[in-house]
Amino acid sequence: MLPRPMARARTVHGTSVSPGLAIGPVHVVRAAPDAVPHWSVPEDEVGNEIERLRAAVVAAGDELQRRQRLVASQSGERDAQIFAVHRMILQDPSAVRDVEETIRGERINAESAVQHFIQRLERTFRPLEGNSVRSYSADLSDPWREVLQALMHVVQSADPDDGKVILAAAVLTPQVVTSVARERLLGIVAEAGGRFSHAAVLARAFGVPCVVGLPGLLQRLEQGMTLALDGGRGSVELRPNDEQVSDFHERKSRLDARRANLAEQSALPARTTDGAELRVLVNIESLRDFDIFDVAHTDGIGLCRTEFLYMERPQFPSEDEQFRMYRRVLERMAPRPVTLRTLDIGGDKRLPYFQTPEEANPALGWRGLRVSLEWQDLLRVQIRAALRAGVGRDMRLLLPMVASLEEVLATHKIFDGVRGALLEQGWEVDSDVPVGIMIEVPSVLLCLDELLAHVDFVSVGTNDLVQYLLAVDRDNPWVSKLYEPLHPAVVRALAQIAKAARNAGKPCSVCGDMADDPAVAVMLLGLGYDSVSVAPYFLPEIKYAVRKVSLATARGLADDVLAQSTVEGVKRVLSNIRDALHA
Ligand code: PEP
Ligand code: MG
Repeated sequence: MLPRPMARARTVHGTSVSPGLAIGPVHVVRAAPDAVPHWSVPEDEVGNEIERLRAAVVAAGDELQRRQRLVASQSGERDAQIFAVHRMILQDPSAVRDVEETIRGERINAESAVQHFIQRLERTFRPLEGNSVRSYSADLSDPWREVLQALMHVVQSADPDDGKVILAAAVLTPQVVTSVARERLLGIVAEAGGRFSHAAVLARAFGVPCVVGLPGLLQRLEQGMTLALDGGRGSVELRPNDEQVSDFHERKSRLDARRANLAEQSALPARTTDGAELRVLVNIESLRDFDIFDVAHTDGIGLCRTEFLYMERPQFPSEDEQFRMYRRVLERMAPRPVTLRTLDIGGDKRLPYFQTPEEANPALGWRGLRVSLEWQDLLRVQIRAALRAGVGRDMRLLLPMVASLEEVLATHKIFDGVRGALLEQGWEVDSDVPVGIMIEVPSVLLCLDELLAHVDFVSVGTNDLVQYLLAVDRDNPWVSKLYEPLHPAVVRALAQIAKAARNAGKPCSVCGDMADDPAVAVMLLGLGYDSVSVAPYFLPEIKYAVRKVSLATARGLADDVLAQSTVEGVKRVLSNIRDALHA
């Protein structure tokens, strides 16, 4: 029998989208009515149904505009942008025509026709069964759910009082995240929704703890029930008892006090007691991330996931649009370095306007650099924009999902061609933009020396490296227990990479999520990494941890970890340093 993804324990575990602790009453948001009425429509009433549909589309557009204004006033234009995209989706006349055709052809009511349309959208954009894909189809169908609500006169937000709440929903969507005012939002839990959805980006930008991947959760909730949510651990306690509540409050006040204290020290470099420095950079996914960290506290951007900038738009951004986006990032960070990763779509990350194939094994499929090398015009436009934006700035380019030297050589050729064309057209272009590769695919480990000879730096994408090294799909809840970044094979691979990079005289960094853990960051320093790049929330803890140890301690830790042959062993060694850091 297959394992149940979630047992009926009082503590349930899911996927962390956004860290932090929250405790409070739950408000279950029903993003769509439970039952959509269905009836047949006589020929002479078809016109009426179409009128009802059109009126509902207008009403839904108004509601989205209202939300756009609300979010813009509460958290800025960038956060509100998703609602503009949703309004554009609703303005697509071919979609409205499609629903009208269903009403006419099948002689059914408008609600039913809209529901069919939503189902069709979800089928089209659900070539995978993963949570994150479900969240993309949700992004596309959300505006149409709004139409359904308007037709059925459902009031969407409306929680009973105006106190603070933890929102719970079937799917994490931007509507869910913004269904109560930001100052009332304690946290969010959802049965489904990947950490790569727009909604997840919003949750992180709002800085509220958020956990997804909790199948069956809603059945177990009642409006107002108390939840204790640990966003970092991805756990949710249902109806905590008095003792758990007071423990939780205690943990939370300790966490708040600690974070306030660390934030004050974050301007200091991450320098060990004996003077070695680990540069701590941040990963960004949106320009709005600038609201959640202090540029002066970072050593730069180690990973700009450009695909998320693409996702914030209704179609591929033009060269000039990309130029402006990249320039903004580079200018905000100057003189600090900015590492732009070329488009990393496919697998679990999709663009609503770019249909990728249905694949049996998407993680092993058409993704990252493979897409860029096939759709070379996409890559060319991106590199043109980046090279134009990078003039006079410390910009680096990073290639995702590299599996072979041939791919790197082919990419260099494209970059050289783009550079040559720009120069010919009279653009100014820096001649020495460093190009690096993500180390995510195990084949790279076996060809590392040759690859290092052809790149300027490497950055280890442990999120993917772990999945490929251990053959565990990072989005598959059935095997999530086996997804173990602290597997000895991972640690040994990390050591091998650092050693090879050092021998080649090339900088190496880790930009996958495992570097978010301060004990791991210290281990990475000990293994010989120059830098880590982490989500901004984790930067203060990491800098603090590095400042507390000596390089000798970090090296000793790395040696001890490398001597372990089990996950348990690695964890035990790391927990010692963790205790020391918290002492
Ligand atoms: C990684 O794989 O570790 C990484 C940083 O890339 P992403 O999480 O965007 O796949
Ligand atoms: Mg990756």
